[in-house]
Amino acid sequence: MITPRPDSRQQAPLWQHALREAFTRPADLLDYLQIDPALPALDLERLRDFPLRVPRGFAARMRPGDPADPLFLQVWPRPAEGLVVPGFALDAVGDLNKARDGGVIHKYRGRALLIATGACAVNCRYCFRRHFPYSEQLAAREQWRGALETLAGDPSIEEVILSGGDPLSLSDDKLAALAQSLEDIPHLRRLRIHTRQPIVLPERVDERLLQWLGRGRLQKVMVLHVNHPQELDASVERALQPLRALQIPLLNQSVLLRGINDSAETLRNLSEKLFACGILPYYLHVVDRVHGAAHFEVDVEAARRLASELVALVPGYLMPRLAREDAGAASKTWIAW
Ligand SMILES: *Cc1c(COP(=O)(O)O)cnc(C)c1O
Ligand code: SF4
Repeated sequence: MITPRPDSRQQAPLWQHALREAFTRPADLLDYLQIDPALPALDLERLRDFPLRVPRGFAARMRPGDPADPLFLQVWPRPAEGLVVPGFALDAVGDLNKARDGGVIHKYRGRALLIATGACAVNCRYCFRRHFPYSEQLAAREQWRGALETLAGDPSIEEVILSGGDPLSLSDDKLAALAQSLEDIPHLRRLRIHTRQPIVLPERVDERLLQWLGRGRLQKVMVLHVNHPQELDASVERALQPLRALQIPLLNQSVLLRGINDSAETLRNLSEKLFACGILPYYLHVVDRVHGAAHFEVDVEAARRLASELVALVPGYLMPRLAREDAGAASKTWIAW
């Protein structure tokens, strides 16, 4: 009889274990945070199309007992999500019109975005992703064949942006194979990765990830997503260290969120802390006007005021660009203050 040798099997990486351990039941999260279940208004109806999902390491950065905690508010489904607000639609940024074959969204000159997966480690309530019909858009089908054909067929594309969802939800085997195929398209120069995982699931930055990131001729750029300085703790800083050692530029995009980071002092702290972690601020987005996110919106006049306060508080290189996405525009729209 042949007995399988346990050491010959590939062990599932630790981060996948951490992902499975994420909070998905509101009662468990409240219990862990010692928040009185009577306090935060909860709308269970909202969980049906967009479930609760919070990695434990991220929950550990929330203040216990505080239903107004800025990290908690990003993940907690509030009844306001159910409101129908004029101007807030299902496809706020017009992506559905732009998706080309194989899950490639090519809106801007020189760079194309690849919807690598619909999955994320955390579900952020303000996100447009909640309405995106990923099942129809997934590039991963057929080993990315459609996506690769689209990219190879357009020599104007120099940069591929892996997005989603969170592309780092995919296994490193899949990602390494994808990166390898992209290497073979001669007109590509850069591979950009839009991910929140090193922040919400620092375990994700492991040897297997670093191996393929460190390989190949394509220059890598990573755009992270941090909204509040409290999201950055020692575990995140440690996770970013090897990425910095690979000389991968780390940038950050934030979303300006009412009641969470809409003060100049918070944004100043965020910029400072990002820099201390080796990340430069890139964009400060106003909320995409998607259904369910209206209660997060900071109106554009208030956003302008905040930006003009912030620019007087930080060095120029720590000032993010206040930006908005307009359907049909040739780039993100920079909002002047
Ligand atoms: C935001 C976005 C990009 C990237 O824009 P940059 O200004 O280069 O960061 C690229 N493609 C699509 C479809 C986007 O939505
Ligand atoms: S795509 Fe980004 S912002 Fe949206 S839910 Fe996933 S991690 Fe959050």
